[in-house]
Amino acid sequence: MEGDGPAQGRWNFDSENRLPPPAGGTGVKEPWFPKENEIDIAVREELDQLEASGVRFIGKDGPRRFAGNREEALAALGWFVENRLELFGPYEDAVDGRDWTMSHSLLSAPMNLGLLDPLEVVRAAEEAYISGKARIESVEAFIRQIIGWRDYVWHLYWHFGEDYVNSNALEAHTPVPKPFSSLDGRDVKANCLKHTLDLIGEYGWVHHIPRLMILGNHALQRGYNPKEMNDWFIDAFVDGTPWVMPANVIGMSLYADGGRMSTKPYAAGGSYLSKMTNYCSDCPLNPKIRVGENACPFTAGYWKFLDDNQQLRSNHRMSNAYAGLRRLSDLEQLRAQESGRTSF
Ligand SMILES: Cc1cc2nc3c(=O)[nH]c(=O)nc-3n(C[C@H](O)[C@H](O)[C@H](O)COP(=O)(O)OP(=O)(O)OC[C@H]3O[C@@H](n4cnc5c(N)ncnc54)[C@H](O)[C@@H]3O)c2cc1C
Ligand code: SF4
Repeated sequence: MEGDGPAQGRWNFDSENRLPPPAGGTGVKEPWFPKENEIDIAVREELDQLEASGVRFIGKDGPRRFAGNREEALAALGWFVENRLELFGPYEDAVDGRDWTMSHSLLSAPMNLGLLDPLEVVRAAEEAYISGKARIESVEAFIRQIIGWRDYVWHLYWHFGEDYVNSNALEAHTPVPKPFSSLDGRDVKANCLKHTLDLIGEYGWVHHIPRLMILGNHALQRGYNPKEMNDWFIDAFVDGTPWVMPANVIGMSLYADGGRMSTKPYAAGGSYLSKMTNYCSDCPLNPKIRVGENACPFTAGYWKFLDDNQQLRSNHRMSNAYAGLRRLSDLEQLRAQESGRTSF
């Protein structure tokens, strides 16, 4: 804010952001990573003992990547604000398969653990704008993630109550499949999904867009059970806590609440993924093809999802999508193909 109004006279700088991944990479500096200490060694020993006694974990054991105490959390915040915030805005909605962190802050885990006060993170970003270290469109976008999204999601958790997590408005009952529960993308053909599952296996984290556009979108299209997906996200992610999942998974990603949180389902086909990620060029499948050997499961899955959920036609925000569905000449073949699909 500057006085009573927004800095530079605008509340929202989305039109300057939302760029696709740049061909040469973002060029942003690496994130801050912790040096492991004796506590990490002790925890690892304990986990190894549990595993030897039969407890099953998912994901790979690797160096810790997220701040785990107050001192580390402040170092991670300082490094992000100083070196990475400047480029947060332009690429916040893009996915670059060569760069797992892009310009994201990796601060959700320390915030959720109570090691950083969200308001202190916001103030640090604001200060970077005032002192000329970061551009307004990045600072505005980052601050909105926290006082907009994070806070909204927190309040929705209490507002919607305990039963919200059992919502299943689209009657989605498919169990979460093996590559998700094992965090192993080996048997997955779809490059975007394979790579995302492998990254979670390695880091317990991917940024917001793979969570929403790849994992959530896939689960929505394939009708994975919402409560199972909610629990899977809690188990698989380093920042997974019960309060943050329901609005993000049940509401925003799976539309299982019938529209209490979002005005329309977040369903996207391969063409959108090919615009906002660079996965398609290395994929054996083709985002433009919906029927046939090389059909992209996101493109075919998008149309099948619309056809399966005709009750969404009355949502005026879906009218263009349903107009497109009416024009499809090969819907019968597409339905037959997708009904027989056993892998992705
Ligand atoms: C399906 C799905 C599952 C998610 N699961 C989690 C989760 O388990 N834990 C979690 O903290 N966030 C979750 N999010 C929100 C968001 O994806 C993560 O907060 C973010 O990717 C964490 O990385 P970061 O700290 O680098 O975030 P940045 O991109 O740097 O954003 C800054 C901060 O904004 C906040 N934020 C932004 N969007 C959201 C949101 N939708 N909900 C809550 N906080 C938000 C986070 O605190 C984050 O640290 C989920 C989103 C989706 C769509
Ligand atoms: S072609 Fe389809 S499955 Fe392959 S990377 Fe692109 S969107 Fe994903």
